[in-house]
Parts: sequence; structure tokens; C-alpha cells
Amino acid sequence: MLRIIDNMNKRGYFVHNSGEWCGFAVVATSAKEAKKIIHDSGELPVGDWSDIRAHWVRSAKVDDLPIGIVTDGRDALVRGIYGALEKYPCDECGKERDVICYNGRVLCSRCIEKEYRRHDMSSNSGSVTLERGD
Ligand SMILES: [Zn+2]
Repeated sequence: MLRIIDNMNKRGYFVHNSGEWCGFAVVATSAKEAKKIIHDSGELPVGDWSDIRAHWVRSAKVDDLPIGIVTDGRDALVRGIYGALEKYPCDECGKERDVICYNGRVLCSRCIEKEYRRHDMSSNSGSVTLERGD
């Protein structure tokens, strides 16, 4: 029987040291592989990395990325592997702040708040239809 290695088994992992918020976005087929990639990369910062964790981000779509570290931090954020980026230029105001992905854009908390208010107001201005069962 011929077995075909399924390329779709790629997963996005957030690899970090136990107890630390900072880490790496990695594309791998298993948590073990994700950790190995980080160990072999020589990119580990100074410190104790003996208790390294690989968290599978199930919602992240990474099929089109190669196996390895995701070097584009913005891409890793938009795909959901990173929860936030520190000191990164915001799409809206352009200032370097802590940013997260909001509706597919990379925004700082101030711009998200503005966006949220605008969205909130526009959705409230429309009429609301209540559906009733019988
Ligand atoms: Zn902003």
C-alpha cells in the first residue's frame, strides 16, 4: 500500500517557556516537532528553556506555510498563533504600540476601542426584529 504523507496536517503552535508570555510561532505537524524546531534553531533567548511548552492553536490556518518558525510576526498574529505583538506599528494610527488582530487588521487598543464604538453605534441604529415562536 502506498501511503501519502498528508500535507494538511500542518498545525500552528505557540512555543513558549513555561510561565512566560513571550514565545515563537511555529508550523509543525506535532508539538514534539514544534519544540524540536525551536531547540534546533539556536534562537532561544538566554534563560532556562528546560520546560518548554508547545500550545497547538487549533484555529490557526497554516496549510500554506512551510514547516518551521513563522518569521513574520504580523502574519503569525493575523493567523492567530500570536495573541498580541509588543511595540508594533498599528494599521490605523501607525504608532508602535501593543497590537492585536481585530477583524483581520493589526490594531492597538485605542484604535480597537474607536472601531468598536463605531461598530456598536451603527449596529444599534438599525431596527431590531424580534422573532417569536408560537
Ligand atoms: Zn492605533
